[in-house]
Amino acid sequence: MSVKKISNDAEWQSLPEEGFIFNQFGGKDPRRLAVDNKLHRASCRQRKMMNLAVPKLYSDNLNEMLDYLKRKVGEENKDWSRCSFCF
Ligand SMILES: [Zn+2]
Repeated sequence: MSVKKISNDAEWQSLPEEGFIFNQFGGKDPRRLAVDNKLHRASCRQRKMMNLAVPKLYSDNLNEMLDYLKRKVGEENKDWSRCSFCF
């Protein structure tokens, strides 16, 4: 499976507990990027507070997700970061 965009609530609700979710806030303030753009495990306890107001990506494979983030989003801990609760 590849990295896919979660485009509706049905997809969001049916995601498994395994895999990885990226919260893609985007944003232009460089100081906020690593804070807002977070990679989570699908089992993260923060998941219940998330919704599709913030665009989401999902992959069942961590390496695939990391590769995608490095190519499309940028540098870890600068343009995005890993959630400290689930990583
Ligand atoms: Zn998390």
